[in-house]
Amino acid sequence: MKILTYPNPILEQVAKPVNIPLKEDEIDLIKEMWRAVQKIGVGLAAPQVGVSKQIFIIHMSEDSDIKKQVKEPDFVVINPKITFYSQLEAEMIEGCLSFPEEYWKIWRPANISLEYDTISNFQDFIKQNAKPIYKKRKRLNAKEWLSRIIQHEYDHLQGKIFTKKGGIKLSKKDMELLNEKVVD
Ligand SMILES: [Zn+2]
Repeated sequence: MKILTYPNPILEQVAKPVNIPLKEDEIDLIKEMWRAVQKIGVGLAAPQVGVSKQIFIIHMSEDSDIKKQVKEPDFVVINPKITFYSQLEAEMIEGCLSFPEEYWKIWRPANISLEYDTISNFQDFIKQNAKPIYKKRKRLNAKEWLSRIIQHEYDHLQGKIFTKKGGIKLSKKDMELLNEKVVD
């Protein structure tokens, strides 16, 4: 699965909402995105693979802290709406698969609330090829690293790119020295 890199114009388009139940090609897309994200990162949005639809994948099962926040740290987010941004902000370093080798230090709200449609049996859907069971307008409060990744992927669906968030671009040397996590 090919990841588009900037300045591909799809990365700055607002993605279209998706009807539930999903169509066959959308189901295949999610499965392919899942396979790709497992190898390359913690999040992947459909516009990054050339499909301008409101879908992103979160893959955080390898992060031990995350299990305190969500029972199932691998999930698909469809038609999301961030319904709350905290006034409290946090500064974190982000990277993006669509901007290879670029890392930016960016301030964003620390905590958010998200409403979205999802596939509630995601593990079985992915691993056992089960038919998707949909859950509409699920709610999630997120903080720390999860909040940051969701905001980054959410921006992809709005056609917003992280290099235009008013952050500070880091050099490769900065990254080597910092040894902090980065968002994909
Ligand atoms: Zn990104």
